[in-house]
Amino acid sequence: MLVSSKSLLNDAQRNHYAIAAFNFYNLDILYAVLDAAEEKKSPVILQLYALYFSFLRPAPIAAAALAAIAESPVPVALHLDHSNDYDQILCALDHGFNSVMIDASKLPLKENMEITSKVVQTAHTYGAFTEAELGQIFRIGQTTDGQKDQKADPEEARLFVAETGVDSLAPAVGSAHGMYVEAPKLDFERIEAISRIVDVPLVLHGGSGTPDDMIKKAINCGIAKLNIGTELKYGWSKAIGEAQKNGEKEPRITSAYARNHVMEIAKQKIELCGSINQQHVFE
Ligand SMILES: [Zn+2]
Repeated sequence: MLVSSKSLLNDAQRNHYAIAAFNFYNLDILYAVLDAAEEKKSPVILQLYALYFSFLRPAPIAAAALAAIAESPVPVALHLDHSNDYDQILCALDHGFNSVMIDASKLPLKENMEITSKVVQTAHTYGAFTEAELGQIFRIGQTTDGQKDQKADPEEARLFVAETGVDSLAPAVGSAHGMYVEAPKLDFERIEAISRIVDVPLVLHGGSGTPDDMIKKAINCGIAKLNIGTELKYGWSKAIGEAQKNGEKEPRITSAYARNHVMEIAKQKIELCGSINQQHVFE
């Protein structure tokens, strides 16, 4: 069933667990995540990366995701991930996404706050939930042009949330997008400092490949939403490759094999988040 990210994340924040937010890149991954959530009786967030929102075409992919969510017995929110485009966000809201992220983190703070405020105001007229990024979360291997520390500052985070009214915050705390070559250096003290000073739920991006104990510690320090994208994407590709290498040519069979593989990854992440059997009443 479709529920708001607000009720999911507020509950997670209150009860010290996290909601796994899985990026889906096709229907195999969408179904795999829902199957995993159903098996674990866990709420989840399904999210579509901005590039995929356009690639999969807004109207049909939103309709398919919303129909699959409506059929599912577990609480699920539908979220647009990392959009830097106001019109795209508006399009997602028009098509029924009930949660959106504006990522204006490349802009100077003042401009990031302006565009975030605008998105928050618009999204709230739809009853939708919002997320924004503060500091800059890099891609693995990305050069930072000498700007080594782009982590979010706690006081800036407080000001950002107070001024924009954003419902959740993804502060840069040392994680990165993609698959880590070596373990990331998460700044747990910073997560704690931000969670003490900011009352909205905090989001950790770049969860793929982060060692389990680090994820657990981040949740203990105040992370309420854990984003997982790359691991599902790589898992799906690897499984499709294996099935084809074994001579399988039938898409239904290769897809089923990949779905199972992705479902196992999703179940493990749900366990890690501590959201199993979180059978609260969500709106
Ligand atoms: Zn991200």
